[in-house]
Amino acid sequence: MDENTNTEKQAALDKQERNVLESTQKVIHKALGKLGYSEQVYELLKEPLRMMTVRIPVKMDDGSTKIFTGFRAQHNDAVGPTKGGVRFHPHVTETEVKALSIWMSLKAGIVNLPYGGGKGGIVCDPRNMSFPEVERLSRGYVRAISQIVGPTKDIPAPDVQTNSQIMAWMMDEYSRMKEFDSPGFITGKPLVLGGSHGRESATAKGVTISIKEAAKRKGISLAGAKIVIQGFGNAGSFLAKFMHDAGANVVGISDVQGALYDPDGLDIDYLLDRRDSFGTVSNLFKNTITNEELLEQECDILVPAAIENQITERNAHKIKANIVVEAANGPTTMKATEILYDRGILLVPDVLASSGGVTVSYFEWVQNNQGFYWEEEEVEEKLEKVMVQAFDNVYRVAQMRNVDMRLAAYMVGVRKMAEASQFRGWI
Ligand code: GLU
Repeated sequence: MDENTNTEKQAALDKQERNVLESTQKVIHKALGKLGYSEQVYELLKEPLRMMTVRIPVKMDDGSTKIFTGFRAQHNDAVGPTKGGVRFHPHVTETEVKALSIWMSLKAGIVNLPYGGGKGGIVCDPRNMSFPEVERLSRGYVRAISQIVGPTKDIPAPDVQTNSQIMAWMMDEYSRMKEFDSPGFITGKPLVLGGSHGRESATAKGVTISIKEAAKRKGISLAGAKIVIQGFGNAGSFLAKFMHDAGANVVGISDVQGALYDPDGLDIDYLLDRRDSFGTVSNLFKNTITNEELLEQECDILVPAAIENQITERNAHKIKANIVVEAANGPTTMKATEILYDRGILLVPDVLASSGGVTVSYFEWVQNNQGFYWEEEEVEEKLEKVMVQAFDNVYRVAQMRNVDMRLAAYMVGVRKMAEASQFRGWI
């Protein structure tokens, strides 16, 4: 009886710790307090200004019709149009999409883009759908949210399990509805449809720059440093390549099914060659470990590049890395953030480390708007400048205020939004 009550209590505590919206709100509240803003500012920023839920009927290949649920959250558009990806995942929830839209606002603030944050999601499992079914779902989603999105309102992009092909279908659907070509409606498009050089690898490039800056601060040399990357999707796979190219030793990677760890280093070229379009590769091996086990392996730098709530109160004290760089959105809970901070582990938060994607999305949108396209080097140079500056700003605030990097990043990220909302007379 007692044991049961304890397990229930622990489950309730775990659930609370994993509520990404509540924990984000707590840090926003703290950040605004540190900056001297009133409760009213918090009241405005604690939830998205707009949240749309849609039901999308899709004709399946077997002739039946399936109704999918989708969301689009627009957090705050005081600074400019809202911006953020759309994820396709069976566990997407309204609460999660809300939190993700707030994180996009913070990212835009940290890398100083003229955007607020938005986010979308569809409850679905694209792994078990055919290409034509995914296409019909993508087009249906655009039709359902068309009233609140657009190149000067809210600009979607790729996220978990969505890619440039899906962006192309969505852009085509929007352009057909509006009866003019609208490349600026969405970013992360294929190059031939107005995509930008460097967009596909941008999140990983930004993470790479963050890793380099963090390693510098910690006096760790990247050459030979042992790196574990959880996740082998868009961010994780490009990152493994960049780290390998930079002379680091990638000792661990994982996908949804399992993880690979070898203290002598993995054959990254082989793994990249054999991964499927969802980033699955571990099924080709016998000696796999679990994702949970991977996080606790010996390494210098740990990069969670998969999904939310991977480092929690339960395993934060077992992490062996000196540096944790969040390539995914929300992989570390707030409790775990505190534990890592107390243990002297440098954590570079998602809203800073993974903002390379939205930064190059912004470059893509600018190129679409002006109809003049940049060379790859130009994109890379600009991204490097933005990321180094953002890292430096956040690091300085963390040092000066004696706070962890997440709180510092929230302080940097929230300020512009609060100021713009005040100037507009909203608060
Ligand atoms: N989905 C990416 C993110 O979470 C990119 C968003 C964008 O490019 O707008 O940052």
